[in-house]
Amino acid sequence: MGRIRVLPDAVANQIAAGEVVERPASVVKEMLENSLDAGATAIRVEAESGGRRLIRITDDGHGMLRDDAMLAFERHATSKLSSLKDLQSIATLGFRGEALPSIGSVSRLTMETRAPEESTGTRVEIQGGKMIKCEEAALAAGTILTVRDLFFNVPPRKKFLRSDQTELAHIASLVTHYSLAHPDKTFELHHDYRELLHVTPVATIRERVFQVFGAQVLDDLIDLGAREVELKLPPPHPHAEDVLPEDLVRPFLLRGFVSRPQVQKYNRSSIYLFVNGRLIKDRLILHAISAAYYNLMPPGAYPFALLFLDCDAEEVDVNVHPSKTEVRFRHSSFVHDFVRDAIRGTLMDARPASELPMPEARRPQAAAVLPYSEFTQTMENARLELPEWRSVVPESAAGALGVGDADLPLFTGHSLPSGDFLPKFATPAVAASVDVAPSRLKVPNHHGGAPEGVQLDGMPSLDVLKDLRPIGQLHESFIIAAGRDGLWIVDQHVAHERILFEQVLKQRAAGRLEKQQLLIPMVVELTASQQIEYARIADELGASGFESEPFGNRTIAIKTAPVDVKPAQIERILFEILEVAERELRGASLDELRRNIAASIACQAAIKINMRLDQTKMDWLLAKLAECEYPTNCPHGRPIALRYSTREILKGFHRI
Ligand code: ADP
Ligand code: MG
Repeated sequence: MGRIRVLPDAVANQIAAGEVVERPASVVKEMLENSLDAGATAIRVEAESGGRRLIRITDDGHGMLRDDAMLAFERHATSKLSSLKDLQSIATLGFRGEALPSIGSVSRLTMETRAPEESTGTRVEIQGGKMIKCEEAALAAGTILTVRDLFFNVPPRKKFLRSDQTELAHIASLVTHYSLAHPDKTFELHHDYRELLHVTPVATIRERVFQVFGAQVLDDLIDLGAREVELKLPPPHPHAEDVLPEDLVRPFLLRGFVSRPQVQKYNRSSIYLFVNGRLIKDRLILHAISAAYYNLMPPGAYPFALLFLDCDAEEVDVNVHPSKTEVRFRHSSFVHDFVRDAIRGTLMDARPASELPMPEARRPQAAAVLPYSEFTQTMENARLELPEWRSVVPESAAGALGVGDADLPLFTGHSLPSGDFLPKFATPAVAASVDVAPSRLKVPNHHGGAPEGVQLDGMPSLDVLKDLRPIGQLHESFIIAAGRDGLWIVDQHVAHERILFEQVLKQRAAGRLEKQQLLIPMVVELTASQQIEYARIADELGASGFESEPFGNRTIAIKTAPVDVKPAQIERILFEILEVAERELRGASLDELRRNIAASIACQAAIKINMRLDQTKMDWLLAKLAECEYPTNCPHGRPIALRYSTREILKGFHRI
């Protein structure tokens, strides 16, 4: 007898379950997708003990006819696909016909379902892959799927499950994601009889973001609007009369929200991607997002992003992974560049400034304002990978202002937490907001009200930068300036850094970088690995102003440097460029390399802190900053300017 056998279905299903059902959240994902595919408008998810004891999903979708209800548990049984051709243009979330049999093989499952066209429904019970009951039942139209004791018959799998909190966090994040993608539907999530999420239909994603995350998060986000682009395919052959011109045009639509660069997360778990309504993970798009924030955020920081990319089903292959969480784009570099440019463009248009952060006491606590704060909090706490929104105060500013006048020299690396700095600076605002009876009474204003011609409302916009009037310097490090919309504090080093950065890039792009000839070429010794990097980037270095040539073993001679660079700085800049090239830019594009070189030059050549600036210099710096394309953040992502808004000032003095 031969050795090869066809596996019994029960075994095949468990093997498939290994790929499809990793944890309770995977069950929720498959079931949510089924409910959405069934046209449900309201979906309720209940879980007990992180989903290991029970998961129940109730929907009001089109249900299943009696025969279908039994068939649904056959392997590869699906109503969504009938031929190979369909596979190329899948419009539903499911198509593999694997989820129900897989889940049924590793749990005790009950499915209750009724199609509106039948008067009675069907109840099917499956245990460890065996159908133990199938009966008629009086049911409302729609489907209720109850999954108990997940992995009861696969002990090794069970062991891999994490704490209830963690499993719940995964479920919660999934339900949240899908609720964001479908603002027109009701979603509910209950855990151990507590309601964690309940959102009712709204017209826009924006309103749904508000329902789920609250006003504060929404404030930190920028709406992408609807960014569209068309990919024009070449005709398959020169005289392709059978191909309609419109068949060669592939529209792509990107919508959603991205966070301002000041919002920095330490990992990617706040990046939500939907391609044609399907929640996916995709390295290509993640890279496009990072590229969009390049030089606006420090390396290793990530934004919040909620992106919906829609395209022709033929442009994306969803049949890449059994859990359907990965896709493959047919024109991947086109998609990459489109997403990057759309986000970058949005960030540029918004050019948001850092608001001077309010002291803790003034920030409404999440619990007080967020409709689902407890829910979001549960998620945040349980998933250590989800860090808190980071404060926008640069540490150097906190340290400098916190230590007071006496503690010079500044910036020796011991920065104080931002809290120490804020109350001091923002005392008027605190006084106005603290719940002290007398100040809360509306006292008639004897002091002349608000000054005239000031801008009170709206997001701080950097357009006001061009009207800033420098008043003086604080600690010889920060320029204090009066603006239409309030008081501005500008970090002189990072401001100059941004100016030089953009200038170098602009000159480099135009191919006319201003450089100086060194009187005596500077000889620099390189390590072996620096040599490898040098060989790779020498041309680009030359074009960026550092012309050099090999000079004996392991040494190079540098002959020119960009004009703003002092000879003493050349070696440091070069080493920094080589180090970053080696550490982070191995697979980087030429553009990234260029930006990195420009950032290094800018950082070294920029005026330092603890340096006195006269009025002309301050005027010059602010004027130049106002001309910058992106004057909010230095190339490494630190904020350049903080604003103490006129509104806060007026409030502090009880004038409004
Ligand atoms: P797939 O979603 O890939 O088709 P599943 O195993 O998830 O495979 O589901 C099998 C079939 O059962 C689906 O094609 C669909 O016809 C039916 N089905 C599953 N869940 C539901 C539901 N909530 N409402 C209506 N029909 C459902
Ligand atoms: Mg399915």
